[in-house]
Amino acid sequence: MNWQQLWKASEHYAAGSPSIPTAGAPSQHLAIVTCMDARIDPVAVFGLQLGQAHVMRNAGGRVSEDVIRSLAVSQGALGTRAILLMMHTRCGMLGFDPASLKAPRAGAEAMDFLPLVSLEGGLREDLAKLRESPWIHQDTAIAGCIFDVDTGRVIPFQPAN
Ligand SMILES: [Zn+2]
Repeated sequence: MNWQQLWKASEHYAAGSPSIPTAGAPSQHLAIVTCMDARIDPVAVFGLQLGQAHVMRNAGGRVSEDVIRSLAVSQGALGTRAILLMMHTRCGMLGFDPASLKAPRAGAEAMDFLPLVSLEGGLREDLAKLRESPWIHQDTAIAGCIFDVDTGRVIPFQPAN
């Protein structure tokens, strides 16, 4: 990694007088939970601007304990009242096997990597987790969708039941 290149790019950013909102609370009262996949730019996908939404990302876009922690702060301290959960096609967490990690795996058996069996199954499970969490406000608008990394299209998710 060329750190110098990153520092230089950040200087260029600051020199361009970026319009950074003074308020930390997202003006659209929206929180997006999605995968860390480098092909996804959630702010651009939904035509959002800096300062309009919180974006929480992890491998798979799973509603993990830490995502619930962040959503609790997002809602409780910063007033968000809508959550969009977005998973995506060709996600690396589909059928992910922790044994495939080429990394030190001390204590790996204690880590739940939250692999996905299917996008639909994962969305159904995690949307239910959001609806059932005592940390999520009752009046929260919750939606799920799938991002197609080949076309850039978003397909709203309708659970079968
Ligand atoms: Zn992914």
